[in-house]
Amino acid sequence: MNTERTFRADLDRAAEEYLTLNNLKPRGSPYMNIKAVILFTLFICSLLVTLFVSIWFEPLVGFFIAGIGFNIGHDASHYSFSEKLWVNKTLVLFFDWSGVSSTLWEAQHVKEHHEHVNDEKDPDIHQNPFFRLSLHQPRRWWHRFQAWYAIPLYTFSHFSWSLAGDMNSYRKKKVRYRKVSFTPYKHLVFWLGKTFFIFTFIVLPFFFYPPLQAIQGFFLFIGTSGLVTTLIFQPAHAVSGSEFTTAATEPDKWKRQVRETTNFASGNNVTGKVVCWILGGLNHQIEHHLFTLYSHHHYPALAPIVKKICEKHNVPYKSLSFWRAIVSHFKHLNEMGKK
Ligand SMILES: [Zn+2]
Repeated sequence: MNTERTFRADLDRAAEEYLTLNNLKPRGSPYMNIKAVILFTLFICSLLVTLFVSIWFEPLVGFFIAGIGFNIGHDASHYSFSEKLWVNKTLVLFFDWSGVSSTLWEAQHVKEHHEHVNDEKDPDIHQNPFFRLSLHQPRRWWHRFQAWYAIPLYTFSHFSWSLAGDMNSYRKKKVRYRKVSFTPYKHLVFWLGKTFFIFTFIVLPFFFYPPLQAIQGFFLFIGTSGLVTTLIFQPAHAVSGSEFTTAATEPDKWKRQVRETTNFASGNNVTGKVVCWILGGLNHQIEHHLFTLYSHHHYPALAPIVKKICEKHNVPYKSLSFWRAIVSHFKHLNEMGKK
């Protein structure tokens, strides 16, 4: 009888063992609740300081909005912030306030990206004709320069996502190949989200500052959040040496998730835990792609367990330092523009 466990079964058994030994639940904990209170407080304070003290604090608002997206919105969209469904459904509305439709995010990120990581259907890879991130995309002449224009375009990513990309997907009721159905509640959330976003971040500063400063402040805010978000998400799957496997070349879906993902500044150590706190576990993307229903604070402890299982099954477990990951992403842009 073949008693060898499959990769997924080994992962599940080890994760269950970790939870049982430490008397933990996969989702929801005081850690997550305290963190949410801290981050929301910092975000509201940064907004008030920007409105009442100086418009030049706008980058701080952009930084905290990205931080809440990483730590709270992302987990809530995966239903992994809390055990309670209504808590996740409420917290994910922060995405709408920040200009990103939670309904379209769920279709694009939670369903399509996680299901098709780095393959020809991954919407994160194929969302923008200005970038060639994968061998599955056709190469155009301008991709040769993509490493050079990446930073300015990344700076506009939040702006274009919230005010153009979302509107386009909403009009088509589609994210790439996936149809998105909008219930009356989802229509309401979409339009209320856009209204709150425009009022809070575009209109409100005009009541406190001269028009030119209010416009400059808005671009400082949205440029910071766009740049920070893109630079944190991109090194997870688009670094030099990415494999771009498909179901044909790697039939095991879970091994494919690991092969196509890279951690940075990760591990069950002080650095791994601090970076995990700040980035909501996005430095542990391997653990996230394997355990999407686990709150991100488990990832540093799960990392050595996952690494050991990957070694047993001969699956490369890639982990870089933060700066190496950033450099490797730009190296990847350069390589994809030329070959
Ligand atoms: Zn995710």
